[in-house]
Amino acid sequence: MRFSKSFIHTLKEAPKDASLPSHKYLVRAGFISQVASGIYNFLPLGKIVLEKIKKITKEELDAAGAVEVQLGFVTPCELWEQSGRLAKYGKELLRFKDRKENCFVLGPTHEEMMVNLVRGRINSYKQLPLNLYQIGLKFRDEARPRFGLLRGREFVMKDGYSFHADEEDMKREYALMEETYKKIFSRMGLDFRAVEADVGAIGGSASKEFMVIADSGEDNIAICTQCDYAANVEAAKKAKRSEPSEVPEFSNFEPFLTPGIKTIEELKEFFHIDPYFLLKAVAKKALYEDGEEIVVFFLRGDQELQETKAMNAIEALELEDVSDEELKKAGIVPGFIGPYELGCKVVFDEELKGAKNLICGGNREDYHLIGADLAHFEDALFVDIKEVKEGDECPKCGAALQIKKGIEVGHIFQLGTRYSDALNATFLDKDGKARPFVMGTYGIGISRLIAAAIEQNHDDRGCIWPKEIAPFSVDIIVSNTKEKEQLDFAEELYGFLLQEGVEVILDDRPERFGPKIKDFELIGFPYGVIVGKGLRDGKVQVVDRKTLEKEDVDILNIKDYLLQLTKK
Ligand code: ATP
Ligand code: MG
Repeated sequence: MRFSKSFIHTLKEAPKDASLPSHKYLVRAGFISQVASGIYNFLPLGKIVLEKIKKITKEELDAAGAVEVQLGFVTPCELWEQSGRLAKYGKELLRFKDRKENCFVLGPTHEEMMVNLVRGRINSYKQLPLNLYQIGLKFRDEARPRFGLLRGREFVMKDGYSFHADEEDMKREYALMEETYKKIFSRMGLDFRAVEADVGAIGGSASKEFMVIADSGEDNIAICTQCDYAANVEAAKKAKRSEPSEVPEFSNFEPFLTPGIKTIEELKEFFHIDPYFLLKAVAKKALYEDGEEIVVFFLRGDQELQETKAMNAIEALELEDVSDEELKKAGIVPGFIGPYELGCKVVFDEELKGAKNLICGGNREDYHLIGADLAHFEDALFVDIKEVKEGDECPKCGAALQIKKGIEVGHIFQLGTRYSDALNATFLDKDGKARPFVMGTYGIGISRLIAAAIEQNHDDRGCIWPKEIAPFSVDIIVSNTKEKEQLDFAEELYGFLLQEGVEVILDDRPERFGPKIKDFELIGFPYGVIVGKGLRDGKVQVVDRKTLEKEDVDILNIKDYLLQLTKK
Protein backbone atom coordinates (compact mmCIF):
# COMPACT_ATOMS: atom_id res chain seq x y z
CA MET A 1 0.00 0.00 0.00
CA ARG A 2 1.10 3.55 -0.69
CA PHE A 3 0.63 5.97 2.14
CA SER A 4 -0.13 8.76 -0.31
CA LYS A 5 -3.09 6.85 -1.73
CA SER A 6 -4.34 5.29 1.49
CA PHE A 7 -6.86 6.62 3.94
CA ILE A 8 -4.64 6.88 7.01
CA HIS A 9 -5.14 9.97 9.11
CA THR A 10 -3.20 10.27 12.32
CA LEU A 11 -4.24 12.70 15.03
CA LYS A 12 -2.27 14.65 17.61
CA GLU A 13 -5.03 14.62 20.19
CA ALA A 14 -6.58 11.58 21.82
CA PRO A 15 -10.34 11.49 22.47
CA LYS A 16 -11.22 13.24 25.73
CA ASP A 17 -12.75 10.17 27.30
CA ALA A 18 -9.80 7.91 26.44
CA SER A 19 -7.90 6.76 29.50
CA LEU A 20 -6.19 3.64 28.18
CA PRO A 21 -3.28 3.44 25.73
CA SER A 22 -5.12 1.18 23.29
CA HIS A 23 -8.06 3.57 23.09
CA LYS A 24 -5.82 6.62 22.61
CA TYR A 25 -3.41 5.07 20.14
CA LEU A 26 -5.94 3.17 18.02
CA VAL A 27 -7.89 6.39 17.48
CA ARG A 28 -4.85 8.64 17.09
CA ALA A 29 -3.08 6.27 14.71
CA GLY A 30 -6.16 5.98 12.52
CA PHE A 31 -7.17 2.36 13.15
CA ILE A 32 -10.67 3.20 14.33
CA SER A 33 -13.00 6.16 14.70
CA GLN A 34 -15.97 6.55 16.96
CA VAL A 35 -19.50 6.61 15.56
CA ALA A 36 -21.38 6.80 18.84
CA SER A 37 -20.75 5.60 22.39
CA GLY A 38 -19.36 2.05 22.11
CA ILE A 39 -19.67 1.95 18.30
CA TYR A 40 -16.65 2.24 16.02
CA ASN A 41 -15.68 2.38 12.36
CA PHE A 42 -12.74 0.28 11.28
CA LEU A 43 -10.48 2.36 9.04
CA PRO A 44 -8.05 0.70 6.59
CA LEU A 45 -5.37 -0.15 9.19
CA GLY A 46 -7.93 -1.36 11.71
CA LYS A 47 -9.66 -3.41 9.07
CA ILE A 48 -6.40 -5.17 8.12
CA VAL A 49 -5.71 -6.13 11.75
CA LEU A 50 -9.32 -7.24 12.21
CA GLU A 51 -9.11 -9.50 9.16
CA LYS A 52 -5.79 -10.97 10.33
CA ILE A 53 -7.28 -11.88 13.68
CA LYS A 54 -10.32 -13.40 11.97
CA LYS A 55 -8.09 -15.38 9.60
CA ILE A 56 -5.96 -16.95 12.34
CA THR A 57 -9.10 -17.79 14.29
CA LYS A 58 -10.80 -19.35 11.28
CA GLU A 59 -7.76 -21.38 10.23
CA GLU A 60 -7.35 -22.97 13.65
CA LEU A 61 -11.06 -23.63 14.15
CA ASP A 62 -11.41 -25.19 10.71
CA ALA A 63 -8.36 -27.36 11.40
CA ALA A 64 -10.06 -28.53 14.61
CA GLY A 65 -13.14 -29.57 12.63
CA ALA A 66 -15.49 -26.72 13.44
CA VAL A 67 -17.77 -25.48 10.65
CA GLU A 68 -18.39 -21.82 9.82
CA VAL A 69 -21.86 -20.37 9.31
CA GLN A 70 -23.29 -16.89 9.51
CA LEU A 71 -26.56 -16.31 11.26
CA GLY A 72 -28.82 -13.28 11.13
CA PHE A 73 -27.78 -10.37 13.36
CA VAL A 74 -31.40 -9.44 13.93
CA THR A 75 -33.10 -12.18 15.91
CA PRO A 76 -36.81 -12.67 16.67
CA CYS A 77 -37.97 -12.18 20.26
CA GLU A 78 -39.94 -15.45 20.26
CA LEU A 79 -36.75 -17.49 20.54
CA TRP A 80 -35.63 -15.37 23.46
CA GLU A 81 -38.96 -15.86 25.11
CA GLN A 82 -38.70 -19.63 24.67
CA SER A 83 -35.32 -19.72 26.37
CA GLY A 84 -36.51 -17.41 29.15
CA ARG A 85 -33.75 -14.90 28.45
CA LEU A 86 -35.89 -12.05 27.12
CA ALA A 87 -36.72 -10.98 30.68
CA LYS A 88 -33.44 -12.04 32.26
CA TYR A 89 -31.04 -10.32 29.88
CA GLY A 90 -32.43 -6.92 30.82
CA LYS A 91 -31.38 -3.70 29.17
CA GLU A 92 -28.31 -5.16 27.44
CA LEU A 93 -30.72 -6.51 24.81
CA LEU A 94 -31.54 -3.90 22.23
CA ARG A 95 -35.15 -4.56 21.24
CA PHE A 96 -37.19 -3.02 18.50
CA LYS A 97 -40.26 -3.60 16.33
CA ASP A 98 -40.55 -3.80 12.59
CA ARG A 99 -43.36 -2.20 10.56
CA LYS A 100 -45.62 -5.17 11.28
CA GLU A 101 -45.09 -4.80 15.02
CA ASN A 102 -42.93 -7.93 15.23
CA CYS A 103 -40.43 -7.79 18.09
CA PHE A 104 -36.71 -8.33 17.44
CA VAL A 105 -33.41 -8.03 19.28
CA LEU A 106 -29.92 -7.36 17.94
CA GLY A 107 -28.06 -10.57 18.78
CA PRO A 108 -25.80 -10.21 21.84
CA THR A 109 -24.93 -13.93 21.60
CA HIS A 110 -26.55 -16.68 19.52
CA GLU A 111 -27.35 -19.75 21.64
CA GLU A 112 -31.05 -19.57 20.80
CA MET A 113 -30.46 -18.98 17.09
CA MET A 114 -27.96 -21.80 16.84
CA VAL A 115 -30.15 -24.31 18.68
CA ASN A 116 -33.04 -23.28 16.46
CA LEU A 117 -30.89 -23.90 13.38
CA VAL A 118 -29.87 -27.36 14.49
CA ARG A 119 -33.20 -28.56 15.87
CA GLY A 120 -35.04 -30.53 13.26
CA ARG A 121 -31.96 -30.80 11.03
CA ILE A 122 -29.93 -33.07 13.30
CA ASN A 123 -32.20 -35.93 14.28
CA SER A 124 -29.95 -38.84 15.11
CA TYR A 125 -26.92 -39.53 17.27
CA LYS A 126 -25.25 -40.67 14.05
CA GLN A 127 -25.09 -37.03 12.90
CA LEU A 128 -23.30 -35.94 16.08
CA PRO A 129 -21.01 -34.33 17.16
CA LEU A 130 -21.26 -30.97 15.44
CA ASN A 131 -19.41 -27.73 16.13
CA LEU A 132 -20.78 -24.62 14.38
CA TYR A 133 -19.24 -21.18 14.64
CA GLN A 134 -19.54 -17.73 13.17
CA ILE A 135 -17.51 -14.55 13.21
CA GLY A 136 -19.69 -11.49 13.16
CA LEU A 137 -21.30 -8.53 14.83
CA LYS A 138 -22.82 -8.60 18.27
CA PHE A 139 -24.70 -5.84 20.00
CA ARG A 140 -24.93 -5.42 23.76
CA ASP A 141 -26.32 -2.21 25.15
CA GLU A 142 -23.63 -2.21 27.86
CA ALA A 143 -24.35 0.03 30.85
CA ARG A 144 -20.87 1.54 30.61
CA PRO A 145 -19.31 1.17 27.18
CA ARG A 146 -15.69 2.26 27.58
CA PHE A 147 -12.04 1.84 26.70
CA GLY A 148 -12.63 1.94 22.95
CA LEU A 149 -12.71 -1.57 21.49
CA LEU A 150 -12.34 -3.24 24.88
CA ARG A 151 -15.94 -2.76 25.89
CA GLY A 152 -18.04 -1.69 22.97
CA ARG A 153 -21.75 -1.93 22.37
CA GLU A 154 -21.34 -3.12 18.79
CA PHE A 155 -18.38 -5.50 18.55
CA VAL A 156 -17.08 -8.46 16.58
CA MET A 157 -17.17 -11.86 18.23
CA LYS A 158 -16.41 -15.38 17.21
CA ASP A 159 -19.08 -17.53 18.80
CA GLY A 160 -19.18 -21.30 18.54
CA TYR A 161 -21.64 -23.90 19.75
CA SER A 162 -21.11 -27.64 19.84
CA PHE A 163 -23.75 -30.37 19.95
CA HIS A 164 -23.19 -33.80 21.45
CA ALA A 165 -24.96 -37.04 22.32
CA ASP A 166 -23.56 -37.13 25.83
CA GLU A 167 -21.59 -35.25 28.47
CA GLU A 168 -18.42 -37.19 27.85
CA ASP A 169 -18.24 -36.24 24.19
CA MET A 170 -18.97 -32.60 25.03
CA LYS A 171 -16.03 -32.63 27.47
CA ARG A 172 -13.78 -34.04 24.74
CA GLU A 173 -14.71 -31.16 22.44
CA TYR A 174 -14.29 -28.65 25.28
CA ALA A 175 -10.72 -29.89 25.77
CA LEU A 176 -10.11 -29.69 22.02
CA MET A 177 -11.39 -26.09 21.98
CA GLU A 178 -9.11 -25.22 24.90
CA GLU A 179 -6.13 -26.47 22.90
CA THR A 180 -7.37 -24.69 19.77
CA TYR A 181 -7.79 -21.40 21.63
CA LYS A 182 -4.25 -21.72 22.96
CA LYS A 183 -2.99 -22.14 19.41
CA ILE A 184 -5.00 -19.13 18.25
CA PHE A 185 -3.73 -16.73 20.92
CA SER A 186 -0.17 -18.04 20.63
CA ARG A 187 -0.21 -17.41 16.89
CA MET A 188 -1.30 -13.84 17.58
CA GLY A 189 1.89 -13.39 19.61
CA LEU A 190 0.07 -12.64 22.86
CA ASP A 191 1.05 -13.40 26.45
CA PHE A 192 -2.09 -15.05 27.82
CA ARG A 193 -3.37 -17.53 30.40
CA ALA A 194 -6.29 -19.94 30.40
CA VAL A 195 -7.92 -19.55 33.80
CA GLU A 196 -10.72 -21.28 35.65
CA ALA A 197 -13.79 -19.08 35.53
CA ASP A 198 -16.93 -18.43 37.48
CA VAL A 199 -19.81 -20.52 36.18
CA GLY A 200 -22.56 -18.45 37.75
CA ALA A 201 -25.20 -19.51 40.22
CA ILE A 202 -26.07 -22.68 38.31
CA GLY A 203 -22.59 -24.08 38.89
CA GLY A 204 -21.58 -27.61 38.15
CA SER A 205 -20.28 -27.25 34.64
CA ALA A 206 -16.74 -26.13 33.91
CA SER A 207 -15.69 -22.91 32.27
CA LYS A 208 -12.39 -21.31 31.34
CA GLU A 209 -11.50 -17.78 30.34
CA PHE A 210 -8.53 -16.78 28.23
CA MET A 211 -6.85 -13.72 29.65
CA VAL A 212 -4.36 -11.47 27.93
CA ILE A 213 -2.05 -10.30 30.71
CA ALA A 214 -2.09 -6.48 30.88
CA ASP A 215 -1.99 -3.96 33.73
CA SER A 216 -5.17 -2.31 32.51
CA GLY A 217 -7.19 -5.56 32.59
CA GLU A 218 -10.57 -5.44 34.29
CA ASP A 219 -10.22 -8.97 35.65
CA ASN A 220 -8.03 -10.07 38.52
CA ILE A 221 -6.52 -13.49 38.14
CA ALA A 222 -4.74 -15.67 40.64
CA ILE A 223 -1.74 -17.46 39.19
CA CYS A 224 0.36 -20.01 41.04
CA THR A 225 4.07 -19.20 41.13
CA GLN A 226 4.93 -22.94 41.03
CA CYS A 227 2.29 -25.06 39.31
CA ASP A 228 -0.15 -24.49 36.44
CA TYR A 229 -3.07 -23.37 38.63
CA ALA A 230 -4.67 -20.17 37.37
CA ALA A 231 -8.16 -18.85 38.09
CA ASN A 232 -10.20 -15.70 37.87
CA VAL A 233 -10.47 -14.36 41.44
CA GLU A 234 -14.23 -14.73 40.99
CA ALA A 235 -13.61 -18.49 41.05
CA ALA A 236 -10.16 -18.83 42.64
CA LYS A 237 -9.67 -21.03 45.69
CA LYS A 238 -6.92 -21.09 48.23
CA ALA A 239 -5.51 -23.92 50.32
CA LYS A 240 -7.16 -24.53 53.67
CA ARG A 241 -5.07 -22.88 56.35
CA SER A 242 -4.31 -24.02 59.86
CA GLU A 243 -5.44 -22.15 62.96
CA PRO A 244 -2.99 -19.60 64.46
CA SER A 245 -0.99 -21.09 67.35
CA GLU A 246 -2.26 -18.51 69.84
CA VAL A 247 -5.96 -19.17 70.44
CA PRO A 248 -7.81 -16.66 72.66
CA GLU A 249 -9.50 -18.05 75.73
CA PHE A 250 -12.97 -16.91 76.73
CA SER A 251 -14.52 -18.36 79.86
CA ASN A 252 -18.05 -17.39 78.84
CA PHE A 253 -20.14 -16.46 75.85
CA GLU A 254 -21.22 -12.95 76.85
CA PRO A 255 -21.78 -9.36 75.78
CA PHE A 256 -18.83 -7.00 76.11
CA LEU A 257 -18.97 -3.21 76.13
CA THR A 258 -17.04 -1.85 73.14
CA PRO A 259 -17.96 1.85 73.00
CA GLY A 260 -17.57 3.23 69.47
CA ILE A 261 -15.36 0.28 68.47
CA LYS A 262 -16.65 -0.72 65.05
CA THR A 263 -14.01 -1.72 62.53
CA ILE A 264 -11.87 -4.85 62.46
CA GLU A 265 -8.81 -2.63 62.94
CA GLU A 266 -10.31 -1.00 66.05
CA LEU A 267 -11.40 -4.34 67.48
CA LYS A 268 -7.96 -5.81 66.88
CA GLU A 269 -6.38 -2.97 68.91
CA PHE A 270 -9.05 -3.05 71.60
CA PHE A 271 -8.90 -6.80 72.28
CA HIS A 272 -5.23 -7.37 71.23
CA ILE A 273 -6.45 -10.26 69.18
CA ASP A 274 -5.57 -11.86 65.84
CA PRO A 275 -8.30 -10.75 63.36
CA TYR A 276 -8.62 -14.44 62.49
CA PHE A 277 -10.84 -14.64 65.59
CA LEU A 278 -12.95 -11.61 64.71
CA LEU A 279 -16.16 -12.07 62.76
CA LYS A 280 -16.38 -9.56 59.91
CA ALA A 281 -19.88 -8.63 58.71
CA VAL A 282 -20.43 -7.27 55.21
CA ALA A 283 -23.99 -6.10 54.56
CA LYS A 284 -25.25 -5.84 50.98
CA LYS A 285 -28.49 -5.24 49.20
CA ALA A 286 -29.22 -8.22 46.97
CA LEU A 287 -31.29 -7.65 43.83
CA TYR A 288 -33.35 -10.50 42.40
CA GLU A 289 -35.64 -10.76 39.40
CA ASP A 290 -38.61 -10.19 41.68
CA GLY A 291 -37.38 -7.96 44.47
CA GLU A 292 -34.56 -7.14 46.87
CA GLU A 293 -33.39 -7.85 50.42
CA ILE A 294 -30.53 -7.09 52.78
CA VAL A 295 -28.07 -9.95 53.21
CA VAL A 296 -25.17 -10.07 55.67
CA PHE A 297 -22.06 -12.02 54.72
CA PHE A 298 -19.73 -13.16 57.53
CA LEU A 299 -16.02 -13.83 57.13
CA ARG A 300 -13.01 -14.11 59.37
CA GLY A 301 -11.65 -10.63 60.15
CA ASP A 302 -8.58 -11.00 57.93
CA GLN A 303 -10.58 -11.90 54.80
CA GLU A 304 -12.37 -9.80 52.18
CA LEU A 305 -15.67 -10.52 50.48
CA GLN A 306 -15.55 -11.66 46.84
CA GLU A 307 -18.74 -10.21 45.39
CA THR A 308 -19.27 -12.62 42.52
CA LYS A 309 -18.94 -15.60 44.86
CA ALA A 310 -21.30 -13.87 47.29
CA MET A 311 -23.82 -13.18 44.53
CA ASN A 312 -23.73 -16.78 43.35
CA ALA A 313 -24.16 -18.06 46.92
CA ILE A 314 -27.60 -16.45 47.13
CA GLU A 315 -28.43 -16.60 43.41
CA ALA A 316 -28.85 -12.83 43.23
CA LEU A 317 -28.64 -10.84 39.99
CA GLU A 318 -26.62 -8.07 41.60
CA LEU A 319 -25.26 -6.85 44.94
CA GLU A 320 -25.36 -3.22 45.92
CA ASP A 321 -23.88 -1.32 48.84
CA VAL A 322 -26.31 -0.46 51.58
CA SER A 323 -26.23 2.76 53.60
CA ASP A 324 -26.27 3.00 57.41
CA GLU A 325 -29.72 4.59 57.17
CA GLU A 326 -31.11 1.65 55.24
CA LEU A 327 -29.54 -0.75 57.75
CA LYS A 328 -31.06 1.09 60.70
CA LYS A 329 -34.44 1.09 59.01
CA ALA A 330 -34.16 -2.69 58.76
CA GLY A 331 -33.35 -2.90 62.49
CA ILE A 332 -29.65 -3.62 61.90
CA VAL A 333 -27.00 -1.79 63.96
CA PRO A 334 -24.11 -0.73 61.70
CA GLY A 335 -20.69 -1.44 63.20
CA PHE A 336 -22.08 -4.00 65.62
CA ILE A 337 -23.58 -6.62 63.31
CA GLY A 338 -23.43 -10.24 64.47
CA PRO A 339 -25.20 -13.42 63.40
CA TYR A 340 -27.22 -13.94 66.61
CA GLU A 341 -30.86 -12.92 66.28
CA LEU A 342 -30.15 -10.82 63.24
CA GLY A 343 -33.36 -10.25 61.34
CA CYS A 344 -32.11 -10.92 57.80
CA LYS A 345 -30.54 -13.54 55.56
CA VAL A 346 -26.99 -14.49 56.56
CA VAL A 347 -24.23 -16.35 54.73
CA PHE A 348 -21.00 -17.61 56.32
CA ASP A 349 -17.69 -18.19 54.60
CA GLU A 350 -16.91 -21.91 54.52
CA GLU A 351 -13.80 -21.30 56.65
CA LEU A 352 -16.13 -20.49 59.55
CA LYS A 353 -17.77 -23.92 59.67
CA GLY A 354 -17.41 -25.08 63.29
CA ALA A 355 -15.39 -21.96 64.22
CA LYS A 356 -15.07 -21.21 67.95
CA ASN A 357 -13.56 -18.56 70.25
CA LEU A 358 -14.81 -15.69 68.12
CA ILE A 359 -15.74 -12.11 68.78
CA CYS A 360 -18.74 -10.86 66.82
CA GLY A 361 -21.13 -7.94 66.78
CA GLY A 362 -23.83 -7.90 69.46
CA ASN A 363 -26.57 -6.35 67.29
CA ARG A 364 -26.77 -3.65 69.95
CA GLU A 365 -25.09 -0.22 69.91
CA ASP A 366 -21.62 -0.40 71.53
CA TYR A 367 -21.70 -4.15 72.25
CA HIS A 368 -19.88 -7.15 70.89
CA LEU A 369 -20.21 -10.79 71.92
CA ILE A 370 -17.11 -12.66 73.03
CA GLY A 371 -16.59 -16.43 73.04
CA ALA A 372 -18.96 -17.09 70.13
CA ASP A 373 -19.18 -20.66 68.85
CA LEU A 374 -20.70 -21.07 65.40
CA ALA A 375 -21.70 -24.67 66.05
CA HIS A 376 -24.98 -22.96 66.87
CA PHE A 377 -25.41 -22.15 63.13
CA GLU A 378 -24.74 -25.65 61.85
CA ASP A 379 -27.68 -25.51 59.41
CA ALA A 380 -26.83 -22.10 57.98
CA LEU A 381 -25.32 -21.53 54.55
CA PHE A 382 -21.52 -22.01 54.61
CA VAL A 383 -19.90 -21.36 51.22
CA ASP A 384 -16.68 -19.96 49.84
CA ILE A 385 -17.24 -16.20 49.59
CA LYS A 386 -13.74 -14.91 50.31
CA GLU A 387 -11.33 -13.21 47.97
CA VAL A 388 -7.99 -14.78 47.18
CA LYS A 389 -5.08 -12.41 47.81
CA GLU A 390 -1.48 -12.12 46.68
CA GLY A 391 0.61 -14.56 48.71
CA ASP A 392 -2.26 -16.90 49.63
CA GLU A 393 -1.50 -20.58 49.21
CA CYS A 394 -2.31 -22.38 45.95
CA PRO A 395 -5.13 -24.93 46.39
CA LYS A 396 -3.27 -27.38 44.18
CA CYS A 397 0.33 -27.26 45.39
CA GLY A 398 0.50 -24.87 48.36
CA ALA A 399 2.97 -22.44 46.76
CA ALA A 400 2.29 -18.70 46.82
CA LEU A 401 -0.38 -17.27 44.51
CA GLN A 402 0.25 -14.14 42.53
CA ILE A 403 -2.50 -11.70 41.48
CA LYS A 404 -2.30 -10.29 37.96
CA LYS A 405 -4.59 -8.23 35.76
CA GLY A 406 -6.05 -9.72 32.63
CA ILE A 407 -8.29 -8.83 29.70
CA GLU A 408 -10.80 -11.55 28.86
CA VAL A 409 -10.45 -12.35 25.17
CA GLY A 410 -12.03 -15.78 25.11
CA HIS A 411 -14.40 -17.96 27.06
CA ILE A 412 -15.24 -21.65 26.81
CA PHE A 413 -18.14 -23.13 28.69
CA GLN A 414 -19.65 -26.57 29.28
CA LEU A 415 -23.24 -25.59 28.74
CA GLY A 416 -25.09 -28.90 29.10
CA THR A 417 -28.74 -29.04 28.09
CA ARG A 418 -29.89 -25.61 29.28
CA TYR A 419 -30.87 -24.33 25.83
CA SER A 420 -31.72 -27.61 24.16
CA ASP A 421 -34.15 -28.32 27.02
CA ALA A 422 -35.70 -24.86 26.87
CA LEU A 423 -36.06 -24.90 23.08
CA ASN A 424 -36.99 -28.57 22.98
CA ALA A 425 -34.14 -29.54 20.66
CA THR A 426 -33.69 -33.30 20.71
CA PHE A 427 -32.16 -36.18 18.76
CA LEU A 428 -32.77 -39.91 18.84
CA ASP A 429 -30.13 -41.86 20.77
CA LYS A 430 -28.93 -45.43 20.07
CA ASP A 431 -32.07 -46.86 21.67
CA GLY A 432 -34.37 -44.62 19.66
CA LYS A 433 -35.09 -42.42 22.66
CA ALA A 434 -35.44 -38.64 22.24
CA ARG A 435 -32.79 -36.73 24.19
CA PRO A 436 -31.76 -33.08 24.40
CA PHE A 437 -28.42 -32.14 22.83
CA VAL A 438 -25.56 -31.73 25.28
CA MET A 439 -23.86 -28.47 24.34
CA GLY A 440 -20.66 -26.51 24.73
CA THR A 441 -20.20 -22.85 23.87
CA TYR A 442 -17.04 -21.00 22.91
CA GLY A 443 -16.48 -17.27 22.39
CA ILE A 444 -13.61 -15.05 21.28
CA GLY A 445 -13.66 -11.26 21.46
CA ILE A 446 -12.28 -10.60 17.97
CA SER A 447 -12.44 -6.80 18.06
CA ARG A 448 -11.48 -6.71 21.74
CA LEU A 449 -8.29 -8.59 20.78
CA ILE A 450 -7.11 -5.60 18.72
CA ALA A 451 -7.18 -3.42 21.82
CA ALA A 452 -5.86 -6.17 24.11
CA ALA A 453 -2.81 -6.61 21.85
CA ILE A 454 -2.02 -2.91 22.24
CA GLU A 455 -2.67 -2.85 25.98
CA GLN A 456 0.02 -5.51 26.20
CA ASN A 457 2.35 -4.02 23.59
CA HIS A 458 2.91 -0.27 23.53
CA ASP A 459 5.25 2.44 24.77
CA ASP A 460 4.91 6.18 25.24
CA ARG A 461 5.18 6.75 21.49
CA GLY A 462 2.45 4.42 20.34
CA CYS A 463 1.54 0.89 19.32
CA ILE A 464 4.03 -1.98 19.04
CA TRP A 465 2.22 -4.63 17.02
CA PRO A 466 3.03 -8.31 17.45
CA LYS A 467 4.37 -9.28 14.02
CA GLU A 468 1.63 -11.82 13.37
CA ILE A 469 -1.17 -9.26 13.44
CA ALA A 470 0.66 -6.05 12.46
CA PRO A 471 -1.08 -4.11 9.67
CA PHE A 472 2.19 -4.13 7.65
CA SER A 473 5.61 -5.58 8.52
CA VAL A 474 7.75 -2.92 6.89
CA ASP A 475 7.25 0.83 6.46
CA ILE A 476 9.58 2.33 3.85
CA ILE A 477 9.98 5.97 4.76
CA VAL A 478 11.20 8.30 2.04
CA SER A 479 12.91 11.07 3.96
CA ASN A 480 12.62 13.69 1.22
CA THR A 481 10.32 12.87 -1.70
CA LYS A 482 11.81 15.76 -3.69
CA GLU A 483 15.06 13.83 -3.96
CA LYS A 484 14.62 11.65 -7.01
CA GLU A 485 17.27 9.09 -5.95
CA GLN A 486 15.53 8.50 -2.64
CA LEU A 487 12.14 8.06 -4.26
CA ASP A 488 13.47 5.79 -7.00
CA PHE A 489 15.35 3.61 -4.56
CA ALA A 490 12.35 3.33 -2.26
CA GLU A 491 10.04 2.50 -5.19
CA GLU A 492 12.36 -0.25 -6.33
CA LEU A 493 12.63 -1.74 -2.84
CA TYR A 494 8.86 -1.49 -2.42
CA GLY A 495 8.25 -3.35 -5.67
CA PHE A 496 10.74 -6.04 -4.71
CA LEU A 497 9.23 -6.64 -1.25
CA LEU A 498 5.71 -6.76 -2.70
CA GLN A 499 6.83 -9.39 -5.14
CA GLU A 500 8.41 -11.41 -2.32
CA GLY A 501 5.13 -11.37 -0.42
CA VAL A 502 6.36 -9.08 2.36
CA GLU A 503 3.61 -6.88 3.77
CA VAL A 504 5.00 -3.46 3.01
CA ILE A 505 3.76 0.12 3.01
CA LEU A 506 5.57 2.94 1.22
CA ASP A 507 5.48 6.32 2.93
CA ASP A 508 5.74 8.43 -0.21
CA ARG A 509 3.80 11.40 1.15
CA PRO A 510 5.29 14.79 0.32
CA GLU A 511 5.74 15.46 4.05
CA ARG A 512 8.69 16.29 6.23
CA PHE A 513 10.65 13.44 7.77
CA GLY A 514 9.63 14.32 11.37
CA PRO A 515 5.90 13.62 11.06
CA LYS A 516 6.60 10.47 9.04
CA ILE A 517 8.81 8.87 11.67
CA LYS A 518 6.30 9.97 14.33
CA ASP A 519 3.55 8.21 12.40
CA PHE A 520 5.72 5.11 12.07
CA GLU A 521 6.12 5.04 15.85
CA LEU A 522 2.48 5.84 16.59
CA ILE A 523 1.08 3.25 14.19
CA GLY A 524 3.65 0.70 15.32
CA PHE A 525 4.75 -1.21 12.20
CA PRO A 526 7.40 -3.74 13.33
CA TYR A 527 10.14 -2.33 11.05
CA GLY A 528 10.89 0.95 9.35
CA VAL A 529 13.37 1.52 6.53
CA ILE A 530 14.55 5.11 6.33
CA VAL A 531 15.69 6.09 2.87
CA GLY A 532 17.47 9.39 3.42
CA LYS A 533 20.74 11.26 3.04
CA GLY A 534 22.76 8.12 3.78
CA LEU A 535 21.78 6.82 0.38
CA ARG A 536 24.64 8.83 -1.12
CA ASP A 537 27.03 6.68 0.90
CA GLY A 538 25.14 3.55 -0.08
CA LYS A 539 23.27 3.15 3.25
CA VAL A 540 19.72 3.05 4.51
CA GLN A 541 18.62 2.79 8.11
CA VAL A 542 16.45 0.00 9.55
CA VAL A 543 14.48 0.79 12.73
CA ASP A 544 13.12 -1.87 15.04
CA ARG A 545 9.87 -0.42 16.43
CA LYS A 546 10.01 -2.47 19.62
CA THR A 547 13.54 -1.55 20.70
CA LEU A 548 13.75 1.68 18.65
CA GLU A 549 17.27 0.59 17.73
CA LYS A 550 18.56 1.81 14.38
CA GLU A 551 20.98 0.01 12.16
CA ASP A 552 22.74 1.26 9.02
CA VAL A 553 22.46 -1.35 6.30
CA ASP A 554 24.34 -1.38 3.02
CA ILE A 555 21.96 -0.93 0.07
CA LEU A 556 23.50 -3.97 -1.55
CA ASN A 557 22.35 -6.11 1.38
CA ILE A 558 19.07 -4.45 2.29
CA LYS A 559 16.83 -6.84 0.35
CA ASP A 560 18.26 -9.96 1.97
CA TYR A 561 18.33 -8.22 5.30
CA LEU A 562 14.61 -7.42 5.16
CA LEU A 563 13.65 -10.85 3.83
CA GLN A 564 15.52 -12.41 6.72
CA LEU A 565 13.88 -10.07 9.24
CA THR A 566 10.34 -10.67 8.07
CA LYS A 567 10.66 -14.37 7.36
CA LYS A 568 7.66 -16.16 8.85
P1 ATP B 1 -17.32 -9.46 30.05
O1 ATP B 1 -17.24 -10.15 31.38
O2 ATP B 1 -16.02 -8.81 29.65
O3 ATP B 1 -18.51 -8.58 29.91
P2 ATP B 1 -18.77 -11.64 28.93
O4 ATP B 1 -18.61 -12.68 29.97
O5 ATP B 1 -20.01 -10.85 28.89
O6 ATP B 1 -17.51 -10.63 29.00
P3 ATP B 1 -19.08 -13.53 26.78
O7 ATP B 1 -20.53 -13.42 26.78
O8 ATP B 1 -18.43 -14.77 27.27
O9 ATP B 1 -18.43 -12.26 27.52
O10 ATP B 1 -18.54 -13.18 25.31
C1 ATP B 1 -17.44 -13.80 24.68
C2 ATP B 1 -16.30 -12.83 24.45
O11 ATP B 1 -16.74 -11.64 23.79
C3 ATP B 1 -15.65 -12.34 25.72
O12 ATP B 1 -14.67 -13.25 26.16
C4 ATP B 1 -15.06 -11.01 25.30
O13 ATP B 1 -13.76 -11.21 24.78
C5 ATP B 1 -15.96 -10.53 24.19
N1 ATP B 1 -16.85 -9.44 24.66
C6 ATP B 1 -17.87 -9.53 25.54
N2 ATP B 1 -18.46 -8.34 25.72
C7 ATP B 1 -17.78 -7.45 24.93
C8 ATP B 1 -17.91 -6.05 24.67
N3 ATP B 1 -18.86 -5.32 25.26
N4 ATP B 1 -17.03 -5.48 23.80
C9 ATP B 1 -16.07 -6.21 23.18
N5 ATP B 1 -15.91 -7.53 23.39
C10 ATP B 1 -16.74 -8.16 24.24
MG1 MG C 1 -20.52 -8.93 29.58
